[in-house]
Amino acid sequence: MNYDINLLVHKLADVHSLSLEEYEALITDCNPESSRLLRELAVKTRRAIFGNDVYIRGLIEISNICRNDCLYCGIRRSNSNCERYRLTPDEILACADEGYGLGFRTFVLQGGEDSYFNDDVLGGIVRSIKSNHPDCAVTLSMGERSFGSYRYLRECGADRYLLRHETADPEHYSRLHPSEMSYSNRMKCLHNLRELGYQVGCGFMVGSPFQTVRNLSEDLKFIETFKPEMCGIGPFIPHKDTPFRDYPSGTLEMTCKLLSIIRLIHPPVLLPSTTALGTIDPLGREKGIMSGANVVMPNLSPVSVRKKYELYDNKICTGEESAQCRECLSNRMRKIGYEIVTGRGDFSAVRENSR
Ligand code: SAH
Repeated sequence: MNYDINLLVHKLADVHSLSLEEYEALITDCNPESSRLLRELAVKTRRAIFGNDVYIRGLIEISNICRNDCLYCGIRRSNSNCERYRLTPDEILACADEGYGLGFRTFVLQGGEDSYFNDDVLGGIVRSIKSNHPDCAVTLSMGERSFGSYRYLRECGADRYLLRHETADPEHYSRLHPSEMSYSNRMKCLHNLRELGYQVGCGFMVGSPFQTVRNLSEDLKFIETFKPEMCGIGPFIPHKDTPFRDYPSGTLEMTCKLLSIIRLIHPPVLLPSTTALGTIDPLGREKGIMSGANVVMPNLSPVSVRKKYELYDNKICTGEESAQCRECLSNRMRKIGYEIVTGRGDFSAVRENSR
């Protein structure tokens, strides 16, 4: 079947849905004119809801200790070259206090699946951040947990949860993960989080090993039906101490194109321009924003641990000079005509404002 790509782009902008075959055609097409149209409509769609505002989330990488063995990830449990660390609750609270002073109103606690952070410990941290800073949102990105655990953390005040689905194809999922992990549990977690009233983020890596164009269109279809409040995508980047060390990185072009498509599929989604995108191109995060993203996640972790939270090689912002990621990103955004805004930037609040 031959598609008129410009027509597909307009259709997506109008009805926010395409068939799997149509997504495939859109993904494979690389004529410059339709790419430009896609980007323009994505930016226009984003601007109609968010103006030139870019939201910031302060990322605190609380532990690189992980029970899982995801084949792509630099902090997988079998990487014996990884120097492990875990922040104490006091260190985490200090990061949040510092971030508050810098204007952050959302804190994202991310880490490996470290059993130290059981419900008591993690719940206690969430409670403390929420009581110290009642005007802030707390986002967790701590992997797969039980329904009861997600429920308890929600009761402690957690507002949002990021859990990338990684791929919407069970067969592809099983090639990226060890056999004790399953696509069905990943999906069950996402649905549990939603049921518990979290604002939920899914997402995937662009260019992960074995990924086909069909897989990507399945990811898009999943986003179209699940309608996540947030969606994290970034290029796969190999890590030297993983089985995927010799696979190539995902590309800037494909990541930006998918950001534009996701914006058109689900206009109000909170869509970060990720650190991984900034790692494969010095202006990657700017280009992500100019393709339709509207969130950046500066690093708030103590500089001493940033290098150790290395999911992939050459991660940016790990040196002494990067202590103030917020300033640096504000300047970068201003240069391209965008303004970083403080405020929680909730999915629902944003939608209210846009009515
Ligand atoms: N343990 C948490 C946090 C994982 S790290 C969880 O399971 O959700 C956050 C994300 O980093 C992962 O979901 C994955 O998509 C991404 N990531 C991991 N390794 C990567 C790599 N080599 N290149 C690019 N992204 C990677």
